[in-house]
Amino acid sequence: MSYVVAVRTLCEFAAKTGDLDLRFTPAPTAQQGIAGHGTVVARRGKYYEAEVSLSGFYKQLRVRGRADGYDPGYKRVEEIKTYRGDLHALPDNHRQLHWAQAKVYGWLLCQSRGLKEIKVALVYFDIGTQKETMLTELYTADALELHFDQLCERFMAWAEQETQHRLTRDAALTSLAFPHAGFRPGQRHLAESVYKSAVSGRHLMAQAPTGIGKTVATIFPLLKASPAQKIDKIFFLAAKTPGRSLALESIALIRAGRDAGKDEEQGAAMQPLRVLELIAGDKACEHPDKACHGASCPLAQGFYDRLPAARQAAVQAVVLDQQSLRTIALAHEVCPYYLSQELVRWSDVVVGDYNYYFDISAMLYGLTLENDWRVAVLVDEAHNMVERARKMYSAELEQSSFRLARKSAPKALKTALDRVQRQWSELYREQKAEYQVYHAIAEKFLFALQQAGTDITDLMTEEPEAVSPELQRFYFDAMQFSKLAEVFGEHSMFDITRETRGANGRIQARLCIRNIVPAPFLKQRFASAHAVTLFSATLGPHHFYSDMLGLPDDTAWIDVESPFHAQQLSVRIAKSISTRYQQRAHSLSPIVDLIARQYAETPGNYLAFFSSFDYLQQVSQLFAERYPDIVIWQQSRGMDEGAKHDFLARFNVGGQGIGFAVLGGAFAEGVDLPGERLIGAFIATLGLPQVNPVNEEMRLRMDAIFGAGYDYTYLYPGLQKVVQAAGRVIRTQQDRGYIHLIDDRFARADVRALLPTWWQLH
Ligand code: SF4
Repeated sequence: MSYVVAVRTLCEFAAKTGDLDLRFTPAPTAQQGIAGHGTVVARRGKYYEAEVSLSGFYKQLRVRGRADGYDPGYKRVEEIKTYRGDLHALPDNHRQLHWAQAKVYGWLLCQSRGLKEIKVALVYFDIGTQKETMLTELYTADALELHFDQLCERFMAWAEQETQHRLTRDAALTSLAFPHAGFRPGQRHLAESVYKSAVSGRHLMAQAPTGIGKTVATIFPLLKASPAQKIDKIFFLAAKTPGRSLALESIALIRAGRDAGKDEEQGAAMQPLRVLELIAGDKACEHPDKACHGASCPLAQGFYDRLPAARQAAVQAVVLDQQSLRTIALAHEVCPYYLSQELVRWSDVVVGDYNYYFDISAMLYGLTLENDWRVAVLVDEAHNMVERARKMYSAELEQSSFRLARKSAPKALKTALDRVQRQWSELYREQKAEYQVYHAIAEKFLFALQQAGTDITDLMTEEPEAVSPELQRFYFDAMQFSKLAEVFGEHSMFDITRETRGANGRIQARLCIRNIVPAPFLKQRFASAHAVTLFSATLGPHHFYSDMLGLPDDTAWIDVESPFHAQQLSVRIAKSISTRYQQRAHSLSPIVDLIARQYAETPGNYLAFFSSFDYLQQVSQLFAERYPDIVIWQQSRGMDEGAKHDFLARFNVGGQGIGFAVLGGAFAEGVDLPGERLIGAFIATLGLPQVNPVNEEMRLRMDAIFGAGYDYTYLYPGLQKVVQAAGRVIRTQQDRGYIHLIDDRFARADVRALLPTWWQLH
């Protein structure tokens, strides 16, 4: 069995030494990097070959990759690197790595074309000046072969270990047994569908109710399918930390297999499965006051020299959650954050946030392409994806923050930042309304912004200490804005909010590229994965999610039957109450009486949800006045973890009272209060997003693209929140409870169609 490795991975493994150093930045945007490569290629002769696919063997090792270019006239292989700033600032270990890559391509070309010697060139292309610096060396094929063999030999022991790991992993997964004695209702349906998706390579959207064990039912079949489908890695992606924890717990359960009466042997047989938890940089960083280079941070200094031992210890540890990863990293004096990034390559299951695969510069996606991995992706609580993906592809620039950055900037940046300031003011000079949407972003402004970005990049390379935190923040915002401006289209809108602030009446304009439909950005992410399963308790109507996210047409859809019965839940619609904004004042009194009546009939713990804190406040105040004997507690704005914990702690067994909360907030999702801890919920309003200029513009756009402006902007997102909140009540097959849907519109057929089918409405 041969082991396949990408040229870059091989070189990084075998030829990278010294410090971790992120100061030398290549091209500011990926687009500029691609354009830079294009420019270099365009300057070459007509026989020049670009992107030459190559591969070669060393013993059982197959090395493959794509050389940037080959000039047959000069017999020269070229490795092109785009950059900004001073080339002399390029750390020596980066340069060595570039040479190592170029020489590997040199050998692969000599071998495939039967050349005796070849020129190996590093072409550094300056994005700013458009100038090339070419470093060339002539090598004989023998010398390159020796270099290639030496690199491969250094990697060989690791490759053998990895091959062995894959064999034992696959053997263990093939005989893997479901960790429970039996499936819960609905769980088998979900597990079989995920398995089929992995076998057919078709993506899957699964709406599956709470309480059926979705996490185990999605991870287990993928593990089981991995050997036959040659799946290299499984990415389990969650919106929030509890989702990640649940995934790690489920994997531990599958690994142990104890529930099904397995002995330790089974657990031991599963040991080869390597599981990695990815943590955000700011949470994993040990020295937040330092910068990520050897001169500043001790964990960056000599990082690559100590990495081999840390990597070996890590793969032996098997499960690498936040805590164990930190312990290993510190024992080897390397940065835990960058160690975790390195370990992605050597893990079987990676558990992390959505960002790592779907974001604009997502690491897991980049590595998947680079290494040609076959990956299966699980997206937990996938109803969050629309909002999260929109944020990933949106960018905002605040004029007040820009002014602070400009004030703190050194003189060298004055011209560039003044130009940005002038062009920024030009953008809204004619704008009369506070908020306005534009169909294009003025070229002059973008040019000024990009120019300033270039100058700040240079400064950061040459004089990093001259860059203030305000300037750095503006720089990152400006880069994100420029990147998204390059790909601006119908999927996004550009708007300016103009405000007058302060005693001097100074105008502040906020510029926003606001993504509405993330589909065009995500399409390629889905195309690059072997099988993606998106699952959630509320993923309907599925065409909405599939349109928004850009899933392929052949994506399968399942709606797993609920294990709960209509008799468990009394759902009533308060048809005589309108919660429309204009009628809110009239709704307060009937709502408090309704809550009190239900409470008197069946005392216990209830949650009452409202669309805003204001509405919540008005109802709870009247309730307290009218029914002072009933205990109530309320959610407030910006609650910290302790306060949230206290709020939930009041829902104890045998307790009685009403918790007031907001729809779509911290207590409307991911909260598990089974049995008596919660016996009912009141939901006032349909959860419709506010009618404001942004949402109205979104409605128009949705109408133009999908012909469903109101539904896609207001109705579906609103009802999704309602169903999520209502889902807090029945958590197990033993639970009994009450739901009051407060608004006459809940009786409408189109609204009822969006409610769970197992509910019986009264
Ligand atoms: S510990 Fe923090 S500062 Fe040091 S390299 Fe890691 S992330 Fe950077």
